[in-house]
Amino acid sequence: MTTNSRRTPARPDMVYRFDGAAVWRTLAAEHQARIGALALELVAGWNVEERLIEDGDSLSPAVFRAAEAYDDVLLMDRLREAFVEAVPRETLEADDGGPRFPSATGAICRRCGCSGHDPCQPRCYWAEPDLCSACDDETDDGFNPHGCGPVPLERRDD
Ligand SMILES: [Zn+2]
Ligand SMILES: [Zn+2]
Repeated sequence: MTTNSRRTPARPDMVYRFDGAAVWRTLAAEHQARIGALALELVAGWNVEERLIEDGDSLSPAVFRAAEAYDDVLLMDRLREAFVEAVPRETLEADDGGPRFPSATGAICRRCGCSGHDPCQPRCYWAEPDLCSACDDETDDGFNPHGCGPVPLERRDD
């Protein structure tokens, strides 16, 4: 018998967000320390990869060799392991099974999935955080007069 009713037959059609800062505050200090250190080291490794690409000729043979052999997959795996150990799986998904999108990548309309990289046509604007004007029932006209939408929380100038 299972009490896991997280997955339902209905296909989730809402875009949910994962608030990393909020989840971070719930983590034990030891998990914060491990995840934080691995995230920093992952970025340090990207710097190694960038140096190899941008000015590999200026690196000494030993540094060049180490940079060529460097592979960030190991650190990504360790970061994922640390995450899985610290963060309940349920945190990644909403009650109806929909995956949560990282909040740090910017607004995404929770109904239609549009974003600054993929606005509605005609272009929309943000009626609320994560709700675009094309999907907002309160909005009569969902067009963004600036033509660059969605843009943050701007109302149309009449
Ligand atoms: Zn929308
Ligand atoms: Zn939109």
